[in-house]
Amino acid sequence: MGMSYRRYLHGERIYGCSKCRTHLTTISFMISRAFNGQHGRAYLFETVVNIVEGEPSDRVMTTGNHTVRDIYCIKCNTTLGWKYDKAYEASQKYKEGRFILERNLLIDVQ
Ligand SMILES: [Zn+2]
Repeated sequence: MGMSYRRYLHGERIYGCSKCRTHLTTISFMISRAFNGQHGRAYLFETVVNIVEGEPSDRVMTTGNHTVRDIYCIKCNTTLGWKYDKAYEASQKYKEGRFILERNLLIDVQ
């Protein structure tokens, strides 16, 4: 069994993977709560750790075309959301390099 190196976060409110409690991000990295994921409400974060990024793919969303990568928990491999590589609409550029995490897949670990 291999061991993966995981980072531990510190802060007032830490969000983790609901399945294995691996730390993912904190409330100080949250940009917006007003997003929709594949399974309901989702949050946009500036930084997420302890994830694996999938291959880029183009997706048409309500806000236009985007190139995104699915992101997976480094420990349990659950699909947690996606990362925006590129947004084609000027008004959506702020999402580039940011991460969507599905609310239902997050727990408070602290
Ligand atoms: Zn996990």
